[in-house]
Amino acid sequence: AQAARNDQVHRETLYVFGTLVEIEIRGEQRDTALTATAAVGQVLQQLHRDWHAWRPGALNDLNAAIARGEAHAVDPRLAGILHEARRLSCESGGLFDPAIGALVALWGFHADTPPQGAPPSPESVAALVAARPRITDLHLDGTDIRSANPAVQLDLGGFAKGAALDLAAAELRARGIDNAVLNAGGDVNVLGTHGRRPWRVAIRDPFVWGAVAALSLRPGEVLYTSGNYERYFEHEGERFAHIIDPRTGYPVREIVSVSVLDTDGARADAAATALAVAGRADWARVAAAMGVSAVLMITDTGELLVTQAMLDRLDPAGEGFPDKV
Ligand code: ADP
Ligand code: MG
Ligand code: MG
Repeated sequence: AQAARNDQVHRETLYVFGTLVEIEIRGEQRDTALTATAAVGQVLQQLHRDWHAWRPGALNDLNAAIARGEAHAVDPRLAGILHEARRLSCESGGLFDPAIGALVALWGFHADTPPQGAPPSPESVAALVAARPRITDLHLDGTDIRSANPAVQLDLGGFAKGAALDLAAAELRARGIDNAVLNAGGDVNVLGTHGRRPWRVAIRDPFVWGAVAALSLRPGEVLYTSGNYERYFEHEGERFAHIIDPRTGYPVREIVSVSVLDTDGARADAAATALAVAGRADWARVAAAMGVSAVLMITDTGELLVTQAMLDRLDPAGEGFPDKV
């Protein structure tokens, strides 16, 4: 077949993982691109079902078995992501911990729309924290999973998008696609380049409509952002968002947005969540422990916390940047 030119573009949008996922493929024949996006769509839909935290599916079945104190066999891909979750959780010192599903549910975030009304009672939060659910409670024996602690309820939401886009990118590569971008609401994996130029992405400003900065991604890089500005509810002037500190059981307040530039979507996504929990005092140490070097965080007072590795990669996009750094 005649080689397609790199300026040949194929775009598709899927709705999966509760968000729009845009796929752009460059430099492929139309048929190749269509088959590849269809395959990616299938992969993502399947992962969305298998890994869903509260709808019926493979993870739900596992959570039910854990609550009954029973061992449960899962498919190899779910077993794989649980191994990965445990490793990332350990590296984060437990700040990223997908075993706190009961807390996420208690705060009302096991729903498609953010909760309304009052936060849970301090007693109910304290009871779940006291039960100490940890992903290290899981015995991962091949694909047979058991938990030493029945309070463990798995919620992979802190890094499922990253892990899924990694698998989607692998699917594209396996089909010979060299140049593509997968964009799930600002969480991005890229393959190759955008024609003769690199793929470019922006980091959203959590306070006003616009970007704080933009950057060019190199082939194989990813950019993941976790924020307190999208999924949250307000009660009596206080904001309660969906990233929860496993130590206290309460939503994170100090950090409004964390962006991580890396080469691994699962790690970048997990790290973004962990660094939001770590906060101003601890974030640099936790980033190093998780092996991520390029980080940009925005605090509730609008302060930017940036590593040199990230700073080296940013093109200023916002007013006042980088003076604010
Ligand atoms: P975003 O949805 O903005 O990408 P994250 O990647 O940080 O945000 O994922 C937030 C989700 O992670 C929550 O909705 C919840 O399902 C889960 N979660 C919340 N707190 C934690 C935590 N401390 N560790 C692991 N997962 C968490
Ligand atoms: Mg995320
Ligand atoms: Mg995350």
